[in-house]
Amino acid sequence: MSSNCVFCKILNQEIPATIIAQNDTVFVIKDIHPQAPLHYLIIPKKHVADLTHIQPKDRDCVADILFMAQQLSQTLPNARQFKLIANNGPAVGQSVLHLHFHFLSGIKSNSFSV
Ligand code: 5GP
Ligand code: ZN
Repeated sequence: MSSNCVFCKILNQEIPATIIAQNDTVFVIKDIHPQAPLHYLIIPKKHVADLTHIQPKDRDCVADILFMAQQLSQTLPNARQFKLIANNGPAVGQSVLHLHFHFLSGIKSNSFSV
């Protein structure tokens, strides 16, 4: 938990958001400003700033993120094909400094970016 982090606050129920899926290590919310017909954020429950900060002990959590993406693609309508994007650092567009993967899907997903 990082006290000034929007995703930690959502996990801690200090900011409202609907968690659409979760397991022991990751949770999923709808992006508040969707850039695609389906735009979800897959977020580790542990506060890690970005992929440059993960450690070997985070291996299972990182794998869980990918399996959660697979689960979303299998359960959400029109999500069999999808993009998974992580911005790592403000210079490339990261605005929330808590690791997260954008899950983007729906029609014409080749044109989606975040
Ligand atoms: P980034 O720009 O760091 O790659 O992605 C952060 C994402 O978090 C953005 O797409 C933004 O719309 C989303 N976001 C920021 N604040 C909130 C919030 O309070 N609730 C939800 N559901 N999404 C948020
Ligand atoms: Zn956080």
